[in-house]
Amino acid sequence: MHEAAVAQDLLETISQQARLHDARPIRAKMSCGQLNAINDEVLRFAFEAISKGTRCEGVALDIEHKPLQARCKDCAQVYAVELPQVRCPHCGCDGFELLPDAPLILEEIEFEKE
Ligand SMILES: [Zn+2]
Repeated sequence: MHEAAVAQDLLETISQQARLHDARPIRAKMSCGQLNAINDEVLRFAFEAISKGTRCEGVALDIEHKPLQARCKDCAQVYAVELPQVRCPHCGCDGFELLPDAPLILEEIEFEKE
């Protein structure tokens, strides 16, 4: 299961940062693309399960899903792909190339303030 592996990675990274900062993490912000899209609920559930009893227990996960992007072949405008009709909002052209999907990234960890 994809989400379980992601949850495990998250837990390791957040724990490591928590040790470095010597603080309790309360929130983690992450983003992912469409093709590697994760199911938010499944990820939260998996994270909650494996973080029980650790310093990361109770960390809230903010997950942002970035849209797939395309570049117009005509005017080079970059825009978010909305299926099923992919059309440049700038010039109306329907020729496009898909840009690489956004990777799964842990963007920010918020720690409890003293
Ligand atoms: Zn265009």
